[in-house]
Amino acid sequence: MFPVRKSSLLAGALALLLSACSPGGPAVSDADRRVAAEEHPKILAEFGGSYDGRAAGYLSDVGEKVAKAAGLGGKCHFTLVNTDVVNAFAVPGCYIYLTRGLMGLVNSEDELASVLAHELGHIVANHGNAQRRQSVLSQLGVMAIEAITGSNKLARLAGAAAGLNALRYSREHEYEADDLGLSYLRKAGYDPYAAPEMLQSLQSYQDFLTSAAGGEADANTIPEWALTHPLTRNRIVRSEEAAERSGVKQGEHPELEAAYLGHVDGLLFGDDPQQGFVLGRSFSHPQMRIAFEAPTGFTLTNSPQAVLIEGPNGTRGEFGGAHGRRMGPDAYAEALLKSLVRDTPARVLSARRGAVNGAQAFMVQATIETGKGVVPISLATYARGNGELYHFLMVSQPGTEAQQGIASLFGSFRFLDAAQTARLKPRNIRVAQVRPGDTLQSLAARMAADRPVEMLLMLNGRSAAQGIRPGERLKLVEFAPG
Ligand SMILES: [Zn+2]
Repeated sequence: MFPVRKSSLLAGALALLLSACSPGGPAVSDADRRVAAEEHPKILAEFGGSYDGRAAGYLSDVGEKVAKAAGLGGKCHFTLVNTDVVNAFAVPGCYIYLTRGLMGLVNSEDELASVLAHELGHIVANHGNAQRRQSVLSQLGVMAIEAITGSNKLARLAGAAAGLNALRYSREHEYEADDLGLSYLRKAGYDPYAAPEMLQSLQSYQDFLTSAAGGEADANTIPEWALTHPLTRNRIVRSEEAAERSGVKQGEHPELEAAYLGHVDGLLFGDDPQQGFVLGRSFSHPQMRIAFEAPTGFTLTNSPQAVLIEGPNGTRGEFGGAHGRRMGPDAYAEALLKSLVRDTPARVLSARRGAVNGAQAFMVQATIETGKGVVPISLATYARGNGELYHFLMVSQPGTEAQQGIASLFGSFRFLDAAQTARLKPRNIRVAQVRPGDTLQSLAARMAADRPVEMLLMLNGRSAAQGIRPGERLKLVEFAPG
């Protein structure tokens, strides 16, 4: 319903459970490939589908070149996924996924090849297998919760954090994938210096997010790529040294920039309007014409079925909805509670009808008993009156002061009018040639972004000191026409 964004958590965790390759076996076994092909549609569903078109075809072409260099020609499957999260990951069976968000950050075909070469390094070295062992442990934690409550949904809410930990490769595996990746990059005829440049771009992206969050780097500001492939200063230095050792001199091998930029011109940037827009702590959906805002200390992440909401002290939950069901907000609340708790002992503490910003609403406070104690649940449902229903479902830790934040969240839900909806426009990457007289500031003025100068520099992999030169081509972010 909110065709995907972040759930690379879930997709990743899913991916890890798939691998069945034996150590020492071939890098891509038939069994692995079969499992990966079966899981492929599920992974896509977690991400909101593939992003088709020119950029996707280009990704496959470059991927195939690098796969050939890795000895895996014709054996791999490359998919561009429709999320603005910055990530790339490999599933045993050589299914490699790269996000639209990462594609927007890359500046040359050589840099793109370096990311794919790194992922192929994980495949060839069979890292999925070792990683899988870790994930099975955390999956057990999730299943324990599921067994206790009999509820998939509750398990999913509780299990998101566990999934995240499971995705981390070790530093040794990262180094190994970097080393293998560099050799494939060279063999495929790309510039080895693209690898450290790409890592530097990811570091700049991380710095950009961290500075936006006021210097606090937490799991919600660090890009997923950095979480799944730990990114350290060491890795950048190491990768630079490896490029120098390759015998190629810096600048000797010009990177394919124009070809790359030609393929990402027009690429969707940020949220897909079909999935709704998360902007900081607010969420708005131009097609559903609804919006809400979470209070300070909360974070929002779009996912396929719902917007995941995380607050202080372990408060977590979701925003979702249902269409085409002729029922009031009270009946909808009851149906949701039933599907959530199933046979778990539950107690409704309060239930009341009301209106929130003009919408008919229903609020429920309840507790459920789990093997780990009594868990407070807060539920709010809203009806538009034409079969459209929406809800928040929040789980908090007992004994915390979570209710005030949850009440503020529940009170922020509103329907949007046509004029408000019209302002929610998708954005695209636009490649522009710098003309004489253009300045960093004049180009930044065209950017549809907060902190336009910083974003312009970050997206184009450069510092303010480097400046811009007439004739060169830069990526801008502009509102889609129309
Ligand atoms: Zn990695």
